[in-house]
Order: sequence, then structure tokens, then C-alpha cells
Amino acid sequence: MNFIREKRLAKVLLIMLILVPVVTMGYLLLFDQLNEQRQEMINKNMQIARLTANYVDDYLSSYKQTLKGVAFRVPLIDNDRNELTKLLRDISLAHSEASLFYVANAKGQLLAKYPNDHADKNIVDRDFFTAAMQKKVFIGGPYVGRVTGIDIISITAPFYQDGKVSGIVGVSIPLDELQNKLSVIQIGHSGYATRFTKDGNFLWHPKLEELKKTMELDKTPLFKAALAAKTGEGSIGPSPGEEPPEQHSFVTLTEAPWVIVIVQPLQEFNNQMNQIMWRNIFIIILLIMFIIVILRYFNLLKDRIAAEHIQKAEKLALVGQLAAGVAHEIRNPLTSIKGFVQLIQSKKSEPIPEFYLETIMQEIDRINDIVGEMVVLAKPVPVQFAEINLRNLINDILNLIGPQAVLKDIQLELIASEDLLAIRGEPNQLKQVFINLIKNSIESIVDGGFVKIHLTNRGNSVVEVKVQDNGPGVPRENLEKLGTPFFTTKETGTGLGLMVTYGIIRNHKGEINVLSEVGHGTTFSINFPVLTIE
Ligand code: ADP
Ligand code: MG
Repeated sequence: MNFIREKRLAKVLLIMLILVPVVTMGYLLLFDQLNEQRQEMINKNMQIARLTANYVDDYLSSYKQTLKGVAFRVPLIDNDRNELTKLLRDISLAHSEASLFYVANAKGQLLAKYPNDHADKNIVDRDFFTAAMQKKVFIGGPYVGRVTGIDIISITAPFYQDGKVSGIVGVSIPLDELQNKLSVIQIGHSGYATRFTKDGNFLWHPKLEELKKTMELDKTPLFKAALAAKTGEGSIGPSPGEEPPEQHSFVTLTEAPWVIVIVQPLQEFNNQMNQIMWRNIFIIILLIMFIIVILRYFNLLKDRIAAEHIQKAEKLALVGQLAAGVAHEIRNPLTSIKGFVQLIQSKKSEPIPEFYLETIMQEIDRINDIVGEMVVLAKPVPVQFAEINLRNLINDILNLIGPQAVLKDIQLELIASEDLLAIRGEPNQLKQVFINLIKNSIESIVDGGFVKIHLTNRGNSVVEVKVQDNGPGVPRENLEKLGTPFFTTKETGTGLGLMVTYGIIRNHKGEINVLSEVGHGTTFSINFPVLTIE
């Protein structure tokens, strides 16, 4: 019992020893992988934001350069509206995205514009006008264009006459143009690029109209982070409770006080991560199952090899022990054969009496039977189940074992019912069972006694075999040790006989029980299922 419990404990420990590191490692790897993926996503989005910012910066910078060129040439033309318009038209040919190029004097009155299909307007109150008048090249927006009436961004630069600012040149670029450049950026399935000004206006957003109604940009964590960012860039995750959760990666432009934001909806990202996670968990579970199956397989294999080994060893031990008895048994018929042969030799001329030859034949048959039985028992034969008549099988065994009983003055008796039902079994293994039980009985009896074998049908589904002796019995404390490996009370015992016996009976779907009391003998009873014909 203890032996089995210890073995089970060892098995559990072994499995734990494998499972715990595998699970821990799997978990850590998974965690690492998720973090890595998240960092990679942020890095990628930052990269996109920087590229976009660079692109927009370049775009704005090229307009600034153009305007500086125009500002340089305006004073040379000296207020000739036609010439100025021509200059603006030439410039606009190279910048087809612009909706308006214009020149204004220091009072904000337009001196010229191209295209020229709207009425002139005064721009003196506009911040892009005042900024340029203060010698700055300015980029601002979005505005509603005073001349064109559409949403624009505005770039302005001063021009100089006699060393001081005497007016500005400007260009209006429809907001749509910049929006188109950003709208081609796709982040995953539902991510996007957006942009807002540092004073809290969206320049572009795929759901701009919707957002304007529901959201005050200047109160969002993103806006605050963008204002606070020292390097002008950063990435912030969703604030708790934010719906839907989004990762915002932003970069501030150099040319204008605008922020490019790459928005990554985390729902989509998390779904991907969940997929990775479940895939990994699945792999870990498979791995664990694989390990357990392998372990079980090796365990079973080991047990089987051990069991086969023991059964074989025990069988050889039995045969060895039997050989002594058999030698004795064979000597008797040999002696009588020898006697008859001598008789025949002495009466050379007389005809040999039929009775002599018959007796010789009988004795030879008897030797043949005994030797045959030994050979069958010792020879390894493949396990092959067949219909078994237990009465015949046990009779054979009693023939074999009889001489040993006689030596110890023990009566062997087989009591079998006439109509005994057949069972299904492997003859060699069953012989091993009964030889061991009967031998144990004989060995237990010190000085004369009996061993009775009863064979009876129990109903019509069970055949019962009882091996009963009037030996000393098994002490109570030893009863539960019967059948455990190496339990023996004999000096030359193996302590394996009963274990092998129990194993064989289990293989035959039988049941074995012991009844024993010190001083009153021992009875092993075995129930075998009756052979059923399917
Ligand atoms: P072995 O015969 O080599 O000792 P077994 O497994 O056949 O090994 O038997 C184990 C022990 O069980 C014996 O040593 C003996 O103490 C006890 N035993 C088995 N059968 C009997 C019996 N019929 N009467 C008394 N003791 C028995
Ligand atoms: Mg034994």
C-alpha cells in the first residue's frame, strides 16, 4: 500500500517539476511578447507620425521659400497691378494646390491677387497679416478665407522697401489639400492620422463633424500631452474609462504649431494580441499534454517490462523447484520399467507376457506426461486465450505436484461439480496460478494435512475455484501484505508468487479473496467469468 502511495507521490512531484517551469516560462514569454508587440506598435506609429510630420513640414517649407522669392521680386515691380498679377500667375502655375496668391500693402489692402475672380478684401485685422508685418514668415490656420470663402491655411511673408516692411505676400491653401495628404494614411483597419493646432482646433479628422459636437479637444489628455511634450513628440495610452480606448502617437511640426497624431484604436490591437495569447496558451497546453502522454507511455512501458520480467523469473523459479519433485516422480516408473525389462531378459526363450509390455507402456506414458507438463510450463509460449476446462487443467497440475505432497504426507483432493462451466483463459498462465497457490499450501503445512481444491459454478456466469488447506494460516498483520512484491516468510522464497498470481487473475477479469485464520488454515477463492460465446 505504502509502496504504491509513494510511487504516486513521486509521479505527482515529477509532473509538477515539469509543469511548473513550463507554465511559468510560457507565461513570462507570453507577457514579454505582448509587451514587445505593444512597444513595436507604438514605435511604428511614432515612425509614421514623424514621416507624416516631415512630409507636411517639407510641403509648408516649399511654400515659404516660394513666398520669400515672391517677396523679393514684388518691390522691383513697383505697384503695377498687371505686372504683379502676372508674377502671381506664373508662381501659381507651379503650385496648383494653392487657391490664392496675393500681395497686400501695409494697410492690408490687396494690391494684386491670382486668380482674380473675386472682389478684393481688406486683411488688416488678420493675424497672418500682422505677423508678416512684424517681419515673420507665418503659417497659420485654419481660417475661412475672406476672399475665396473656403476653409484655408494661410502662409504669409513680408516684403521690404527702403529697408522697412512695406507689405506682405501671401498664399491660401485649401484645407482639403492637406487633408487629402493625411487621409491616405491607414493604421490597421480602423486607425488613422489626424492633426490639430496647438490652440486646440482640429485641422483634420475623419470624424471631424462628429467630434466638434461631442469633444472639447483642449481638455483631452492628448492635447495636454502634446502641449507639455519637451521634444514635441510622444505617445499616450487611453486614460481609464476612455471609450473607445486609443493609443495616440503625436509629433509637432517644425514649420507650424500643428500636431500630427496617429490614432491606433486599441480594440483592434488587443484583439490581435488576444489571438496571439490564445495561440500561445494552446501551444503550451499541447506541449504539456505531450509531455504527460510521453511520461505515461514510458511509465506503462516500464511497468509492463517489469511485470513480464517478474512473471518469467517466477515461472522459472517454479519450474526449478518442481524439477526436484519431478525427478522423484520419474524414478518410480523408471524403476518398474527396469524391473520388467530385467524379467524379460531373464526369460529369453519364453514369449513375453502381454501384461509386462502393457505396464511398461503405461509407465512410459506417465513419464511422458510429467515431462511434457514440465516442458509446456517452462517453454515461453505466446499468450493465447482459449476455452479452458479447469478440472482437466488442475488435474494435470496435481499429477505434477503430487509427489511433493506425498513426501510431506499431504493429501491432495480435487472436488469438481459434474457440469462445470468452461472459462476463457491462457492455459500456461492459469497453471502458474494454481501451481503457486497449491505449492504455497503444501509449503505452509509442516507435518501432514490436506489441500482441497473445489470447483463450482456460481449461477451461470461465474466459476469459483477454492484452494483450501489446513496449514497454520496467515497472521492478521500479514494478510494485507499478500501479493505485494517480495513479501515472503520463507527462507528461500521469492515473495513474487502471489503478486504474479494476482496479476494473471486480473488479466482474466477474475477476482481473488483470502480467508485465513491462524491455526485454522487458509482458503484462497477465485471467481472467473464464464466463457461466453458471442
Ligand atoms: P513465496 O512463496 O516465495 O514466499 P508468495 O508470494 O507465493 O511467495 O507467498 C508470499 C507469502 O504469503 C508466503 O511467504 C507465506 O508467508 C504467505 N502465504 C501464502 N500462501 C499461504 C498459505 N496457503 N498459508 C500460509 N501462508 C501463506
Ligand atoms: Mg509461493
